[in-house]
Amino acid sequence: MSEKVVIIGSGPAGWTAAIYCARANLQPLVIEGSATWDANRVNGTLPLGQLNLTTEVENFPAWPFADNSAFNQLLKSALPPDRFANVAHYSEGKKVHQGKRAAYGPELMELMRQQAASFGTRIVTDDVVKVELGKHPFKLTTRDSGAFDALALIIATGARANYLGLPSEDRYKNNGVTACAVCDGALPRFRNKPLVVIGGGDSAVEEATYLTKFASQVHMVVRRNELRASKIMAQRALENPKITMKWNRTLDEVIGTEQSGVTAARLKSTIDDGTETLDVTGVFLAIGHTPNTDFLGGQLQTDPKGYIIWPKSHRTDTSIEGVFAAGDVADSYYRQAVTAAGSGCQSALDAERWLADKGHH
Ligand code: NDP
Repeated sequence: MSEKVVIIGSGPAGWTAAIYCARANLQPLVIEGSATWDANRVNGTLPLGQLNLTTEVENFPAWPFADNSAFNQLLKSALPPDRFANVAHYSEGKKVHQGKRAAYGPELMELMRQQAASFGTRIVTDDVVKVELGKHPFKLTTRDSGAFDALALIIATGARANYLGLPSEDRYKNNGVTACAVCDGALPRFRNKPLVVIGGGDSAVEEATYLTKFASQVHMVVRRNELRASKIMAQRALENPKITMKWNRTLDEVIGTEQSGVTAARLKSTIDDGTETLDVTGVFLAIGHTPNTDFLGGQLQTDPKGYIIWPKSHRTDTSIEGVFAAGDVADSYYRQAVTAAGSGCQSALDAERWLADKGHH
């Protein structure tokens, strides 16, 4: 028998879609991705999305700072023991934050997942490797869990930040290396300290500008001698006294210690053999994102970068009727947890109404 709604992806968009579908009695099935497939770890496409790869989340509404013990109590009370075990280290043990703090990304994601499960969402921990959208019901094939037929489909597989792929970059991820200034810029380790931003597009300018609120100085490392960013954004960066341009350079190595995290960044010239080491506590990558749409095999209309196109204004419909998209997989512009959750809600309402129109609900 066909599933009424299958949701692919398990970030804020996927779980919000699931909460709404479950409460609408659609018995949604979420295919959340596999935690054990190494390519997901390497690519940054593990279950629970990009928020699960970040540290404290200070901008998700209704999550103000609270005592560590309060987070501990809430998580223990809300989550079954096997899921609490995934996040216990944030609130238990000798190394935990003392006093008030924000929720950690992985804590929020476990709570979102649980909220969806509590209303009857069924969860398959596997990756979809193939979709057949040319026939209805749609057919989805997973790596290890067989195939599923779906009357409606919500794609919420998100996007991944691009990294350069340096081993040292990987070593210090979340310990000074990050790809999200809005998520991490205000953390104590970056305050009143010099930082580097790698990239010269609008994102890099935006990140650098944002970081000047906290950092003592921001070095923008640009591989050419000009910015790709739009003129107005570029001007903003060039005129900001706290931003220093490092033209014709790229990141060669992140330097640090296990205890302190990042302490410096070595840059190399893109035009000669020159290198230069800057003392910094943070390295922010802003060299673009890649939407997780490869598994679609080109069956949905996307923009040139692979982001799914929403053809109707203010709707989450895609180019195929009955297939909806939510979150970063269709949004290269806002890319925030709360906007992803918002479009997850919209996609569930759109799917519910579409199924009702077709007499399936
Ligand atoms: P872009 O693709 O526009 O820019 C990526 C930047 O990273 C470029 O400067 C590029 O250099 C550099 N880069 C890419 N790969 C490497 C590498 N391997 N080593 C060093 N540098 C590298 O991505 P963005 O995320 O900045 O922007 C994506 C889209 O979102 C754009 O359309 C942008 O306009 C939009 N956006 C708009 C904003 C706004 O208007 N407020 C804010 C943020 C994004 P090079 O130029 O040499 O290719």
